[in-house]
Amino acid sequence: MTETTRFLLILASQRNAWDSMKKQTVAFSKNSSNLFFHILTKCNLSCVHCYINKEQHGDNTLDIDTIKDWLNIFSNKAGRTNLIFLGGEPTLHKDLHLAVKEAKHLGFKSVTIDTNGYLFHDILDKVSCKDIDFLSFSLDGATKKTNDNIRGEGSYDKVMEGLKKALLKNFSCSMIYTVSDMNIHELELMPDLITGLGIKRFFIQVIGLRGKSSKADGTLRVSKKTWLTTIPEVAGKIASHGIIVTYPKVFLLKNETFQCAGSVADNYFVFPNGRVYQCPICEDFALHSYEIRQNELVATPKINEKDLFGLTIPEGCVMNKMIQPQNLSYSRDGTPDHQIACCMLKEEILPKPG
Ligand code: SF4
Ligand code: SF4
Repeated sequence: MTETTRFLLILASQRNAWDSMKKQTVAFSKNSSNLFFHILTKCNLSCVHCYINKEQHGDNTLDIDTIKDWLNIFSNKAGRTNLIFLGGEPTLHKDLHLAVKEAKHLGFKSVTIDTNGYLFHDILDKVSCKDIDFLSFSLDGATKKTNDNIRGEGSYDKVMEGLKKALLKNFSCSMIYTVSDMNIHELELMPDLITGLGIKRFFIQVIGLRGKSSKADGTLRVSKKTWLTTIPEVAGKIASHGIIVTYPKVFLLKNETFQCAGSVADNYFVFPNGRVYQCPICEDFALHSYEIRQNELVATPKINEKDLFGLTIPEGCVMNKMIQPQNLSYSRDGTPDHQIACCMLKEEILPKPG
């Protein structure tokens, strides 16, 4: 079978599978907001692709009073804001449970904790499934060998143990699989691994070239061809088991319009040194749009990431062209083969109710 035939067969099987599911691009909206709150940068693991850059974001841990003050900065739009607690490893924060309760009290639309599964400080005993909308567990391989190679010895067992414990306590759980050339070969094993566990959502992430992965010279990222032939197919298989699957769009089709989330959405990536970004791939640079000073959100002077958001180039995302041009390709006349979508543009596959 030629590569082209294989590609066409994959597309045909995707079309059949999608007949029983709903696939949609999640449009950006100013009416809803996302607050990605890094309450510390410390972590017990040292993943190969870790995106945390302590040179840019320091290594301090916010105390609980500061966390509450900073949550209050965003409380005027809490009802339309999804809050995600991040680190480092957020459960290393001894007062995470108090932060969660404050978030609930302020009325955030949803509260999520992203965790590597170690669940420090008995967090599951200190918050209830009513306090948290999602606990999101990171796993980067279907086997111990591959996952632990990326995330560290013993991390596979810990994340699976933590996930099962959380499910037993009725927490809504999701899983995040960050795809790289070190683990893409095991993505197709994931439907069998997770079916029946009881997770509700599965997120496929692309390696963001920041933090440690930026030093890997782009070699961790999978090729365009591998991405387009593998990700939608596996996502469809997982969704066919009743799990909502989300993955980044990455490559826009010819008829799709490029939009920069920095201009048309309302996202905040807050770090414990007070920097607030609107674009995650700017995080390796001092290009943040805002800073938190004396518990107020203050706009930073030019030049910052906001100055990039309005720039229009044929390749799509300006930051992508500057820091990860390896995923661009051109036809003979110099036209880009694809526009690169905003890194926050997602495809979502919703299983149709049965
Ligand atoms: S990727 Fe997450 S779990 Fe891994 S070292 Fe970085 S902060 Fe820790
Ligand atoms: S990833 Fe690109 S398109 Fe998205 S917010 Fe950043 S600069 Fe804009």
